[in-house]
Amino acid sequence: MKTLSLFGATGSIGQSTLKLVDEHPDQFSVSVMSAHSNYEKLAQLAKEYQPDLVVIADSQYERALAACLLGTSIRVTSGADALCEAARIPVDCVVAGIVGFAGLMPVRAAVQAGQIIALANKETLVVAGHLIMPLAATSGATLLPVDSEHNAIAQCLVGARDEDINKVVLTASGGPFRDLSRTQMHHATKEQALLHPNWLMGQKITIDSATMMNKGLELIEAAWLFGLGSDRLDALIHPQSIVHGMVSYCDGSWLAHMGPADMRVPLSHALGYPRRLAWQAERLDLVQIARLDFQSVCHEQFPCFGMAKSVIGTDPADAVTLNAANEVAVSHFLSGKIPFGKIAEQVDTILSQKRLGSANGFDDILSLDQEVRKLARSVI
Ligand code: NDP
Ligand code: MG
Repeated sequence: MKTLSLFGATGSIGQSTLKLVDEHPDQFSVSVMSAHSNYEKLAQLAKEYQPDLVVIADSQYERALAACLLGTSIRVTSGADALCEAARIPVDCVVAGIVGFAGLMPVRAAVQAGQIIALANKETLVVAGHLIMPLAATSGATLLPVDSEHNAIAQCLVGARDEDINKVVLTASGGPFRDLSRTQMHHATKEQALLHPNWLMGQKITIDSATMMNKGLELIEAAWLFGLGSDRLDALIHPQSIVHGMVSYCDGSWLAHMGPADMRVPLSHALGYPRRLAWQAERLDLVQIARLDFQSVCHEQFPCFGMAKSVIGTDPADAVTLNAANEVAVSHFLSGKIPFGKIAEQVDTILSQKRLGSANGFDDILSLDQEVRKLARSVI
């Protein structure tokens, strides 16, 4: 029986993780669960999965959550520090499923504590890969990538030496606007942008997929996870979302990972690691799929992709800036303040300004993130 701490239990990654727990009740139990503000759903999940501890990040909901759990033995805490404390509680696997920059400090705490971490929160490595990777090396923490492309690539890289690797390629569905020009997608509505063709995910990553910022963030994530420069990293549009990642080796071989577009596949790899769990859903039918298409990403059509790729190997403050500017722009788009096309423009404007700070340590990153958000909110 493995014990799990599930950060972001109420979200899309949280739900996929809990489906796996349901499918393998004899193998997993949940010790810790967290959410941001959705205390009702967190309470309902806590009653079902009986963790020892639930943490609500926004403290104003702590009393309401505690009231829902009155009469149970489940402990309730709240706030950012409580999240980090919870991430240090020893478990067999910490699932990092918080969205955005908010996932950074709990992951850092889990890394400091030397935990095994199933890492879905890509923003952690985007903003602090240069600090998290060495920290993991000293604390003995293990980062198991859950982002489907990175999980696929990690599987294709087993046994590889650095000099064997010619290129690592992530695939991208191309999102809902794959066949639209920039002008055509400029005024796309929230509903259109949230209609992802292949994956059902949280709102932020779904919008990032529509701008293809997601794939750019994933290149940065891959650079840190696999220790590669942008010259050995690439992404290809693959509309079927069957191949998730590939490695081109020096001897001409390619290894590719295929699987259904279902986050239970990478999650099951990470949760089961180093063993494999039995797959209980529908299997890929390659005869029915029949063909796999690949095309390159057009930088003119998806400027966010190029912007993100351009910060690989530069001062880490650039990636912090890019990430914060993007989080603000996406939330402005989702609340109807800016049109879809402005997301890329706003990120570009902020990224081309003078750096607002450094990213030398975690405190620097936290204050730089705040500064960039302030600026981003003022440039609408
Ligand atoms: P969701 O929006 O569906 O869920 C986010 C979760 O994080 C919720 O539990 C939410 O709580 C919690 N949360 C939000 N803000 C905060 C905060 N400030 N502090 C603490 N907790 C917070 O996101 P996803 O599950 O889609 O994505 C999670 C992460 O996984 C992202 O980094 C994403 O890039 C990555 N990922 C997701 C994939 C997917 O299939 N969904 C695929 C690959 C990567 P509440 O419900 O209370 O708001
Ligand atoms: Mg992904």
